Amino acid sequence: MALKTIDSLGDLSRQRVLVRADLNVPLDGQRITDDGRVRASLPTIERLAGAGAKVIVMAHLGRPKGQPEAKYSLQPVAARLAELLGRPVEFAGDTVGPLAQAAVAAAGDGDVVVLENVRFNPGETSKEDSERQAFAAELAALGDAFVSDGFGVVHRKQASVYDIAQILPAAAGGLVLAEVEALSRATTNPARPYVVVLGGSKVSDKLGVIGNLMEKADALLIGGGMVFTFLAAKGYAVGASLLEEDQIDTVKGYLDRASAEGVEIVLPTDIVVAEKFDRDAAHYDVAADQIPESWMGLDIGPDSRQAFAAKIRDARTIVWNGPMGVFEFPVFAAGTRDVAQAMIDSAGFSVVGGGDSAAAVRILGLPEAGFGHISTGGGASLELLEGKVLPGIAVLEA
Ligand code: ADP
Ligand code: MG
Repeated sequence: MALKTIDSLGDLSRQRVLVRADLNVPLDGQRITDDGRVRASLPTIERLAGAGAKVIVMAHLGRPKGQPEAKYSLQPVAARLAELLGRPVEFAGDTVGPLAQAAVAAAGDGDVVVLENVRFNPGETSKEDSERQAFAAELAALGDAFVSDGFGVVHRKQASVYDIAQILPAAAGGLVLAEVEALSRATTNPARPYVVVLGGSKVSDKLGVIGNLMEKADALLIGGGMVFTFLAAKGYAVGASLLEEDQIDTVKGYLDRASAEGVEIVLPTDIVVAEKFDRDAAHYDVAADQIPESWMGLDIGPDSRQAFAAKIRDARTIVWNGPMGVFEFPVFAAGTRDVAQAMIDSAGFSVVGGGDSAAAVRILGLPEAGFGHISTGGGASLELLEGKVLPGIAVLEA
């Protein structure tokens, strides 16, 4: 599949180029705790500005409900972008209203404008085609061309991702191109053994992908919050751990299918349990079938860490999505750290997907260069690995 590139847009000088970026960074109040996505957006923005375009950045932050909410303002992100670019960035206090229009009208060649959170408008994520298209048309009126570079949202059929590409001349940015290329290495003829490590807290989202990944991978290593639905499916008590009760039957089905199809599903044999969800909580290691009532599993235990690391070191393709534990609290970070370190130690091609997983690599101080590819997209990277057609990619096909 070949995607339209920025070159296909011709001479960009004096053109207003709308760029969809993924600037959905983790925030602690106004403070950005990991700016990886902002950094990843720089090359395309710099390239367009360097070509003399007026660069108008569209992005979202968090999940506002279709109306402005101060805590989801992109203002602090625009400020960080300005720091990283080393030049002023004009922040428009609305998305398509008078402030955005004035900011775009005032922009000179090579200037960068960031629009307010596109999800402050209900049209962005509407399920109604006509509502999305109407909002996309308002966005499109601010530009002459569209560059899709927010890889983290290309699996979404949303106004600033999908519909706008049908109105303006459109192209994939360098980040989207690089992501698609790296992830297709893991999907088209992956070197084997091919090991997928899954964790994190978006349990129901991720349980759904297991069925598809089972057809492609040789082994699935399960950690993080979804472990407990697997342990419950085996009949173990899971205390106060994260549990998707309505998914237990689905998971039982996966376990049966895996043994029938010769796919290995590796579950932790021990768990770090905590008395409560807290960075200083009392905690200790227990066998996976001995989780005490009212305690919660917040990381995989030491035996599991060794077993997971051994599988990863022997693999030739490794995809990791979702932390093994609550790595934000240092005492529950060991599982995530050991899995990531094993990926670095392995000679295989390794891909990290998932916003929090990528953030964990940086927050734990691991060298990013030790990985084959660190994706900026969680859901998008998983869907590509599942072999799905993503709407925001399909619309960029040449
Ligand atoms: P990603 O962004 O990498 O796709 P998710 O968003 O699914 O990952 O999940 C990340 C979160 O999962 C982290 O904030 C981490 O603290 C949390 N997490 C991991 N293991 C557990 C667990 N056992 N219980 C609760 N939360 C967990
Ligand atoms: Mg996440």
